Amino acid sequence: MTQHGGRDYLAIPGPSVMPDAVLRTMHRASPNIYEGELIDMVAGIIPDLKKVAGTAHHATIYIGNGHAAWEAALSNVVEEGDHVLGLYNGRFGFGWAEMAEGLGVTVESLDFGMKTPVDATRLEEALRADKEGRIKAVLCTHVDTSTSVKNNIAEVRAAMDAAGHGALLMVDCIASMGCDRFEMDAWGADVAITASQKGLMVPPGMGFVFFNDRAAARRAEMLRVSRYWDWTPRANPDFFYQYFAGTAPTHHLYGLRASLDMIHAEGMEQVWARHKMLASAIWAACDAWAAVGPLKLNVADPEHRSCAVTALHVGMPHGVNLRRWCEQNAGITLGIGLGMSTDEDPKGEGFFRIGHMGHINRQMVLGTLGSMEAAFSANDVPRGQGALDAAAKVLAG
Ligand SMILES: *Cc1c(COP(=O)(O)O)cnc(C)c1O
Repeated sequence: MTQHGGRDYLAIPGPSVMPDAVLRTMHRASPNIYEGELIDMVAGIIPDLKKVAGTAHHATIYIGNGHAAWEAALSNVVEEGDHVLGLYNGRFGFGWAEMAEGLGVTVESLDFGMKTPVDATRLEEALRADKEGRIKAVLCTHVDTSTSVKNNIAEVRAAMDAAGHGALLMVDCIASMGCDRFEMDAWGADVAITASQKGLMVPPGMGFVFFNDRAAARRAEMLRVSRYWDWTPRANPDFFYQYFAGTAPTHHLYGLRASLDMIHAEGMEQVWARHKMLASAIWAACDAWAAVGPLKLNVADPEHRSCAVTALHVGMPHGVNLRRWCEQNAGITLGIGLGMSTDEDPKGEGFFRIGHMGHINRQMVLGTLGSMEAAFSANDVPRGQGALDAAAKVLAG
């Protein structure tokens, strides 16, 4: 029987936990969309979004989820017959490339497996081989949410520069923005995208596309761009409705205003440091558990792990039992494995993920880890001792 009391906690990699301040501000009557506070509020949201992305360039808001942001970004810079280079470290890298294929774009691919980041040498070689400059854009996930692999975007840019290649660097920051350090301009990304329901702590329903002047120049060369996806009027609207190519996502915007206030009151450096500390506590616990028995962190090198999500393997039937026990007895929902199926485990149920993005703190992490310890115990999963001690030590620092 399900035992609750207390709050449920969705510890999956998006949607993330929504702060009460976000929920409260959304609980209100519809605002006037033609004049007044909403118009002023959006004008203030844009610079605050840019600060989160680390860019002084352009920011646009789309009504849609992360997939919409994928398509929006591509639609402005590549067209049928163009080539892009997809870099893969898991399911989400493939997903963005498939989106490009759907737009008639030819995808060339570099697959770095499910456990390791982009190898800059292989990328540089692939770009050097493209003598005629066929490749118009390189698509890279900052964090692939399925595997929790994090790429070093500055290194990706350095490899592109070393090859002397003119492709745009487009980065999917949907999992990472507002969690893992990301600096669009300093790291040389031309386009970056994110969505509302992860580090930004707002319900799903808004996608964000950031672009610089190089990307804007590429947009200007496009034969045509769909009126809805076109980022030009959205980034420089003459009329309020042009921000959204139609009615504004009124209540989501109130939520976003509240979340940006929270993020900037804490400060980007502090937000990144908090995620780093909380992730390190989770990894310390997992390392202790992994000393004996089946549990394994998917990514071996902590430098290559996201601070927003951790992918783990514990094998069948433990993976499914663990998640089920946590949800039914502790009110904590852990993430399923995504794109991790193998011949022995066709549904990938031996994998699971802990989402630790956005509105989280020490007690939520300790609650998750303590509940996992109880779930291991209830299901007789062999494991190393001292996981909670190890996490507490990190959190005490
Ligand atoms: C969540 C996520 C997406 C997809 O976002 P949706 O809102 O589900 O469309 C794409 N890429 C990454 C890296 C993600 O984490």
